[in-house]
Amino acid sequence: MIQRIGVVGAGQMGTGIAHVCALSGYEVTLVDIRQDALDDALTRIDRDMQRLARRGAIDAEKRGDALARIRPVTTLTSLKDHDLVIEAATEDEDVKRTIFKSLVPDLKPDALIATNTSSIPITRLAATTDRPEKFIGMHFMNPVPVMKLIEIIRGIATSDETYQAVRQLCQSLGKTSAVSEDFPAFIVNRILLPMLNEAVYTLYEGVGSVEAIDTAMRLGANHPMGPLELADFIGLDTCLSVMNVLYEGLADSKYRPCPLLVKYVEAGWLGRKAGRGFYDYSGPKPVPTR
Ligand code: NAD
Repeated sequence: MIQRIGVVGAGQMGTGIAHVCALSGYEVTLVDIRQDALDDALTRIDRDMQRLARRGAIDAEKRGDALARIRPVTTLTSLKDHDLVIEAATEDEDVKRTIFKSLVPDLKPDALIATNTSSIPITRLAATTDRPEKFIGMHFMNPVPVMKLIEIIRGIATSDETYQAVRQLCQSLGKTSAVSEDFPAFIVNRILLPMLNEAVYTLYEGVGSVEAIDTAMRLGANHPMGPLELADFIGLDTCLSVMNVLYEGLADSKYRPCPLLVKYVEAGWLGRKAGRGFYDYSGPKPVPTR
């Protein structure tokens, strides 16, 4: 039975994961090597929960209780008695390997380990631990408190018990899960990113302007955001890295990253977070750059 959850990495995703776990009644220990990341995470969780309380989605008392259930720490040794550790640290295989290596000696033998990686094979990460059968992918969507889906990715050695326990956990967090086999980019990114890449090709080949492409897909396919607007929101560097994972992992030219996407990333025009991507965000309203 899962009661205590450790979340490693207090960045964008770890903060959201700690938020939803605490709101659902789990005791959460949030670990980061940077104290400032932990401070920012708690401030953000408090702010996001206040917003939910204002909207009537949670009551004020629940908010206070949930916040009190999150314990910020800077060392992995605090996770000794936890039932599940969800790793959501920087997307770098060496960083994740180092975390798992120092985590497992202290962890109780029946504890489960999940990773929120977007692109590293679950089976390969599982092999760096002493318990590949208790290791699984839990791919949360950003922003975690808002998005309903969690992709569950089974590594080749993941046991049925581990899968069932994590599926029930997703339910108890109020999320819906979809199970994916352990292949490059899993399901959502495997389908979504080639579509965004194709939108960049459509721009690159002069088929349409930024505005025409986004309007066409918003109104013609009923997408809530246009593909170029969405690519800017995700971050063009992230989009490029997922395309490279697909291109290299599946060795198929249909996943070739668009040269214009590469050029934008080389220029540092990474989308919303950089103030410029397919739109310029310096003014009160985003303005198309092409
Ligand atoms: P981020 O850069 O916002 O946060 C990463 C955090 O990990 C940082 O606070 C960093 O200090 C911390 N960290 C680094 N090394 C550590 C260590 N040894 N121990 C503890 N903490 C450490 O990154 P993010 O966007 O939150 O992404 C985290 C993970 O989630 C990645 O694997 C990413 O692929 C995945 N993911 C991201 C998104 C997204 O949209 N951002 C969506 C789904 C999955």
